[in-house]
Amino acid sequence: MNENINILCVDDIAEDKSNSRFKLVNLISRSNHDIDINIRHPNDLEEVFNEAKVFDLVIIDYFLEKHAKNGTKFKHKGNALIGLLREQFTGTPIYLISADMPKCKGFIPSDNFENYVTDEWLADSELIKSEVLSHREIKEQTINNYDDLHSLLQTPEGSKEFIEKALPNQIRRKISKSSSPYLSDNYDLNPKINILLSRWITHELLLYPGILYNSLHTATLLGIDHDHFNQTLANDTDFNNAAIYKGVFKDSFEKLWWKDAIIEYLYSQPNAEDNMLGTIYESALKILKISDENIAICHKCLEKGANTIAHITDYPEKEYSVHYSCSVQDTSSLPIPYFDPQRVLLEDK
Ligand SMILES: [Zn+2]
Repeated sequence: MNENINILCVDDIAEDKSNSRFKLVNLISRSNHDIDINIRHPNDLEEVFNEAKVFDLVIIDYFLEKHAKNGTKFKHKGNALIGLLREQFTGTPIYLISADMPKCKGFIPSDNFENYVTDEWLADSELIKSEVLSHREIKEQTINNYDDLHSLLQTPEGSKEFIEKALPNQIRRKISKSSSPYLSDNYDLNPKINILLSRWITHELLLYPGILYNSLHTATLLGIDHDHFNQTLANDTDFNNAAIYKGVFKDSFEKLWWKDAIIEYLYSQPNAEDNMLGTIYESALKILKISDENIAICHKCLEKGANTIAHITDYPEKEYSVHYSCSVQDTSSLPIPYFDPQRVLLEDK
């Protein structure tokens, strides 16, 4: 794979050095990678289109009106500008950049963009490179059937069924249509399957627990204290060979493990048959010979035996191991089929 990365950054070229775009350019110029960033004024886009260059990523400052210099009038702004870029660069991911990132997060529909240029991004050129190459891998993969998708995700055998069931209908239809001789030429124009797939993978599959689990969810599934898990199994070669996520965008997320492969690993241990108990975590504690002090403790009642995950009401981003009985299902969030329903800590009465 040619690893030269071409990024188009559409920005009104504000001189403010605290500007995120300025930080991005700085980072890229300091990095050892072959990342070429082409910064263009939104009014010069026709020129860019005529150059017919292929970009791996388009970065756009959405709030152009805020930064406009005196007397500048933009030909296109906001959604019209995005539409123009989508039309011209079909299948190229678009990321939002802004000097004011935290404010953007809540109110811009994520369907308009594949992602935001976050502070983590602006600090790590390795991450930029790896993420852009994941987008390119998806774009270059011909997806005629589910096996093509599994090769991008490196899905273990036992998890394939879950991926195929959880896949949104819009993508499923594209996959089955692409192998049909009756597919009309313009069916596949917009949004391209690579865009739909990268959105689903990053906005759902790798983000929400269900098919894949982060370290807290994995530890709790096995009944193990989170720190103990991080110091032991999380770095175990056999465990990681069996269950860790190695597919596209793996560097853009914390370590993740395939839930089905975690369970399969557990029950394939030599002593598994003699230690099968009622639930996964009860069996896991026996099979993995977890000592008493390393059993997961419930964040709510502080007793041993936490066996599910919950968050505090209104703070879904901070999750804790708790007892099932010390938490209730979060009725304020709609469960996504094939992903774990969210739970909240039981409120004090
Ligand atoms: Zn409890």
